[in-house]
Amino acid sequence: MYKGLTEELARKTDSRILLAIIDGVGDVSNAELGGRTPLEAAETPQLDRLASESALGLHIPVSPGITPGSGPAHLALFGYDPVTFNVGRGVLAALGMEFDLEYGDLVARINFCTVDDDGVITDRRAGRISTEKCTELISLISDIEINDVETFVFPVKQHRACVVFRGEGLDDNIEDTDPGLTGKKPVNVTGPGKSARVVREFIMEAGRILHRRHPANFIILRGFSIYKEFPSMRDRFRLSPAVAALYPMYKGVARFVGMDVQICEPEDLDGQARAVKSALESGHDFVFLHHKPADSAGEDGNVPAKIKAIEEFDRHLPSFLKLGFDVVCITGDHSTPCSMKLHSWHPVPVLINGGPQRIGYSKAFSEREALSGALGSFRAMDLMPLLLASAGKLAKFGA
Ligand code: ZN
Repeated sequence: MYKGLTEELARKTDSRILLAIIDGVGDVSNAELGGRTPLEAAETPQLDRLASESALGLHIPVSPGITPGSGPAHLALFGYDPVTFNVGRGVLAALGMEFDLEYGDLVARINFCTVDDDGVITDRRAGRISTEKCTELISLISDIEINDVETFVFPVKQHRACVVFRGEGLDDNIEDTDPGLTGKKPVNVTGPGKSARVVREFIMEAGRILHRRHPANFIILRGFSIYKEFPSMRDRFRLSPAVAALYPMYKGVARFVGMDVQICEPEDLDGQARAVKSALESGHDFVFLHHKPADSAGEDGNVPAKIKAIEEFDRHLPSFLKLGFDVVCITGDHSTPCSMKLHSWHPVPVLINGGPQRIGYSKAFSEREALSGALGSFRAMDLMPLLLASAGKLAKFGA
């Protein structure tokens, strides 16, 4: 097992940690808001009160200037170097759909797309077909048989689905077939290897079956990855971790590091609060709570929606705080500035409440307030040791 200093010093205690991630919460100065960020503009009395009793700082998701996807950004916050532990999105998506992967499985994400008579892509998302339509199309390509591998396909959401190839000697040395823009043909899978042959046959057969199914008349595959054994948070940090998330991808990344996936019913913050409570009752001492809408609003460039998403989280915060965590951390996985409509590299505000902390001058939770916080700025992958230390879960190094 991977073993660094934190692993060596981690010890089991009764203290409990909540890591709440407001996806994409960080932003940049926005002209629509007179130079403020959505987090500054949002009415957040709960977060602001908590900030005045907490240590604040900023985390750098990967390294300065590097824009992360949500997968690596979350892995970093869970204490995994996202560059060393690079996991394909295919594996994360499959785990998120609770598919029982076996070590050695080759996984890829499927996008249904539209191609014209010459095979040129005219819509990479096939007009965002409904999940029902996706399910119907997946059943059509679920019988594809390829020599000496088993093939599993399943729908994820809208035009997105997943394929798993199971067999001896597969590798993930395969480029995405998605050219990344319309007006081009899907990228050919080349190479003499077994994986390339299997993937080629699968795509050809799927194309034949979907031929007359406009708009979803072809597939492109992305994020090829082999499912490999991975050191768990339980083994590394002596935690019993659980997750309360609503989206498959985040359940996937959490399962990947060994978190128990809690059922959230209903699928909103109320359901998540119930799930967190039951996680604590069943003995978990680390809970990851994921809130998605701020990121989606950022990607849509929708400032009011981002503010609303943050305010919604703020209103529900007391139902999590009252559950009796010893340490509460609130942050985002990365910034998703509304003006960019994309993820970005900008540092993300962090708040740690509970345990011995240096309380700063902050009276609110925001990018600007976090600048003066006691935590300074640090790499996201150093957050876990800070949380473990705050919760009294790290022994002293040396005599
Ligand atoms: Zn994200």
